[in-house]
Amino acid sequence: MKVAVVKETAPGERRVALVPEAVAKLRSAGHEVLVETGAGAGAFLPDESYSEAGAGIATAEQLAGADAILAVGRPDDALAGRLRPGQAYFGLLAPLTDPDLARRLAATGVTAISMDLIPRTLSRAQPMDALTSQANIAGYKAAVLAAAAFGRFFPLLITAAGTARPAKVLVLGTGVAGLQAIGTARRLGAVVSAYDVRPETKTEVQSLGATFIELTSVGPASGAGGYARALTDAERAAQQAELADHIARHDVVITTAQVPGRRPPQLVSSEALKSMAPGSVLVDMGASALGGNVEGSEPGKTIVTGNGVTIIGADNLPSTMAAAASAMYARNISSLLTYMIKDGSFTVDLADELVAGVVICHDGQVVHPALTAAPAAAPAPVDPD
Ligand code: NAD
Repeated sequence: MKVAVVKETAPGERRVALVPEAVAKLRSAGHEVLVETGAGAGAFLPDESYSEAGAGIATAEQLAGADAILAVGRPDDALAGRLRPGQAYFGLLAPLTDPDLARRLAATGVTAISMDLIPRTLSRAQPMDALTSQANIAGYKAAVLAAAAFGRFFPLLITAAGTARPAKVLVLGTGVAGLQAIGTARRLGAVVSAYDVRPETKTEVQSLGATFIELTSVGPASGAGGYARALTDAERAAQQAELADHIARHDVVITTAQVPGRRPPQLVSSEALKSMAPGSVLVDMGASALGGNVEGSEPGKTIVTGNGVTIIGADNLPSTMAAAASAMYARNISSLLTYMIKDGSFTVDLADELVAGVVICHDGQVVHPALTAAPAAAPAPVDPD
């Protein structure tokens, strides 16, 4: 099989779909690997490191004949124009946030595989779980960014020059990223509390040495597939009001809340921001063009409010640790590619729950159930929360 690795073109994207170690494994399994010139540069991986692992270095145009194109993100217009029927395209496509994407890709005849749709409930899919590998990195980096922006120490410090009390950190949303943020903040010595609308995360939070906050105004909101459901307007207002008291008592707040296919829920209102002490820091991992977990946050921007609170709008944190993120993503994507090769040829078996979970279009048709559902049941990407 001929496998191609593209150079990412999205602004700020430094990751690459395969690292040389993964190339060597595919080569030893008998596959040909072509890597676009400069594809690994953002992750400090020169072309020579890929050549040494057995890859051919090629121009973008020379990748067109590959059976599978491996990428981190969506194809840009130039690449989409070169996709051909029967070819497979792997990437973090986030199709639920742009239902038209699947239709556009289907029109090319490509089999599009979305690495962010790996079913979390299947244990055989764990090595392919790119959402988890990237969220782990993002959660770590969020805690490190918060510590760097905070004007005081995270740990308790007792010195001859005085004593510093430990920072009080609050993590909102305790999925993969939130749990990693808790672990990282704890390792830096902070006193950590956390909250999630899924109460089943309480034991995980406590096992990391943090205190789980339970709200009385909002009940459990566990949804399908282990994810949270979107809250109603009334629940959201009650949650924001009750969280505000907790937020005011913390030095650092890291927010990670997501609901699949929806804009991130707003957890920190401008009223809550006003109640925070000057010098407090928020890192909003939900920051997006549609709004984030923190009112007024903007992806890729750091804002200091009138009362001296710093809001860091996270923007693609895994890309800021491109070497680590690429190494993990390469293992995820190689595992899925290898899984879909049966008897030496790439096979799209939609009767397999794992494959059906990730393939968004095939043979010119949109095939993913979340995208072919009746409009009323389909995800609403621009719905408030
Ligand atoms: P996510 O990124 O979708 O969301 C992050 C967190 O935000 C979640 O914990 C969610 O409950 C929380 N959240 C959403 N709305 C909220 C609100 N209004 N208020 C407070 N919190 C809110 O989550 P994720 O990290 O992708 O994890 C999703 C699920 O997948 C979890 O059940 C997790 O345990 C599961 N998972 C399973 C595996 C596995 O079995 N291999 C691996 C990774 C994750």
